[in-house]
Order: sequence, then C-alpha cells, then structure tokens
Amino acid sequence: MAKSSTFSTRDIGIDLGTANTLVYVRGRGVILNEPSVVAIDSRNGKVLAVGSEAKEAVGRTPGTITATRPLKGGVITDFEATEGMLRQFIRMARVGRGRAPRVVVCVPSGVTGVERRAVLQTATRAGARSVHLIEEPMAAAIGAGLPVHEARGSMVVDIGGGSTEIAIISLGGTVATHSARIAGDALDAAIASYIERNFSMAVGERTAEDIKMSLGEGSSVPVRGRDKNTGMPKTVELSHAAIKEALEKPTAAIVQAVVTAFDACPPELYGDIMERGIVLTGGGALLHGLDERLAKETGMPVFIAENPLDCVALGTGRCLEEFDKLETVFSSPATVAGA
Ligand code: ADP
Ligand code: MG
Repeated sequence: MAKSSTFSTRDIGIDLGTANTLVYVRGRGVILNEPSVVAIDSRNGKVLAVGSEAKEAVGRTPGTITATRPLKGGVITDFEATEGMLRQFIRMARVGRGRAPRVVVCVPSGVTGVERRAVLQTATRAGARSVHLIEEPMAAAIGAGLPVHEARGSMVVDIGGGSTEIAIISLGGTVATHSARIAGDALDAAIASYIERNFSMAVGERTAEDIKMSLGEGSSVPVRGRDKNTGMPKTVELSHAAIKEALEKPTAAIVQAVVTAFDACPPELYGDIMERGIVLTGGGALLHGLDERLAKETGMPVFIAENPLDCVALGTGRCLEEFDKLETVFSSPATVAGA
C-alpha cells in the first residue's frame, strides 16, 4: 500500500528548457537531451519530428511544414506544440510499457500562476500520471553540487536560451530570486541584427548561434549569407571584437540582472557568497568571457559548474529521489501512528 504512492523507476524528471529539453529517469540518469523544437505538418497539425531532427528543419521547411520552438523566455508560448513534443519525449524515455509515469518538471522561478497551470496541464495531457513542479534555480543549484541545505548562502545563476534565473539559497530554500527574460536567444538575435546593420546581410538564428559559440576559438569567423541589396551570396569575416561589440547590450543586461539580485540579499549571506562565489549553470554559462566579466562587475568569485547544460536535469533527478524518501515516510503506517 505504501509502495503505490512512492516514485517508481518509471518516474521521470523533465528540464523543459527554452533551448533544450532533458529527461532524467530514476535509476538511469539523463537519458534524453534534445533541442526543444517540434516540426508540425500545418495541413493537419500532426507532429512530424521533435528534437534534433526538427531543429535541422528550422528555417529550411517547405510551406506545409513549420518547425517551431514552442517555448520563449522560459515559458510555453505554443501549448499544442509543447504537448506534442513532451508526449514524444515521454514516450522515448519510458522504460517498457506499464503505468504512465509521474513527472517532475522544472519551471523558472518567475512564472505566473497561469504559466504554472499551463505546464501542469500540458504535461498531464502529454501522458503524465501526475505532475509536480519544482523551481528551476533550486534544481540548478542541487545539480551543480551546491550545499543548498546548509545554513550558508549559495548563489546560482542559470543562463538558458530564454531566461536568466538567479537565486540565493540557504537552508534548502530560496532566500531571493530574480529572473530576466534575456539569455542565449537574445545574444543570437543581437548578432543577427549586428550583421544585418553592418553588412546588409541576413543570417538565420542557427548561424547566429554558431557565431556566438565560436567566440574563444581563433580571432575571427567567416559568415555566409545573402546580401540584402544585391540578393547575391556573400561571405564576410567577422572579428571577435565585432562579435563582442554585437553582444555588449544583452551581456550588460545579464550582468545587471545579477547585480540587481543582490539588492534582496541579506548581509550575512552576502558575506558567504563573497567567500564561496557565484556558480553559473545553463548553456549561457559557456559564453566566452562571461565568467570573468561577472567576476569583475560583481567583485565576487565566479565559477562555471561542471556540465552546466545538465545541472537542472541532474538536480531534478535528485529531487525525484528525495520525493521518494518523503513519500515513503509520509505513507508509512509507523509514522502515522506516531504522529
Ligand atoms: P534552456 O534551459 O533555456 O533550454 P540551456 O541551458 O540548454 O537553455 O542553454 C542553451 C543556451 O546556451 C543556448 O542559447 C545556446 O546557444 C547557449 N550555449 C550553449 N553552448 C554555448 C557556448 N559554448 N557559448 C555560448 N552559448 C552557449
Ligand atoms: Mg534551463
């Protein structure tokens, strides 16, 4: 009887990110890591492909297929597409047949009640038996190995595709959170618009992302695109200095969001963070030079977590195991009798 309310090995944790979705299966770890993209046949609304297969199609689809990213700024903007994508991912993650899985999903700390309900509903309709939500920055901190249960302040900054989530954590709870809907996507958009302004050339979001990730390798990068005036193909050499210039505005906004988060930080915890530093998670943590820039502007030591792209999923997985312990305790007759 107690067994039925505990999490089984079919239960899964989902890091539903704007850029990437990761699925953690209890006892097995992260078994799926795919871009949050879905390709839909616009004639009948059928999901044709999800994940990397669908991402390949972004910007390259014929008229009858739309490849979309159903989340923006950390929240679901296209419910049907998200549901189709989640259903497929849950199916891919399930171990054999049997009961539908219980699902734990991470949501950004700044989401509204309506947005929370949307995630609950979408995951339920996508095939979950029950859905629990946990706060993303807490999952990121746990996944990064921070001692969240200690009575000392830890600070985590998770920079994803759509949002930057900042949290100061102590004694297993978030003491202060701050979220800005500016992250990797905004950096890509800034690169695309810089190239358009300075070279009259249109580039897609994937090209812009590749350019961003090339920072730190060599000193310039060739960019292929179409000249907007002549309509002819052209290639320009973009220097790293130019890329940095293009990225200045959104980068400054990310730094500002981190600085702002300190406004709500109790002085004792501020001291702890000065001593132990800020930990960066999420793919945006890998932006070349961002750690140094943050260290300079905050005066704090800054560290990039090991495997920053996996932290939220790993932390979600750890929570699955903890939920199990909690539920075992709560459903055990001995506990009830002793209460
Ligand atoms: P989300 O949780 O929103 O899905 P992720 O944590 O998966 O986001 O991070 C994805 C973001 O990280 C994308 O914007 C991607 O371009 C960016 N990213 C990944 N690797 C790098 C890198 N080496 N340099 C800069 N940005 C990166
Ligand atoms: Mg994320």
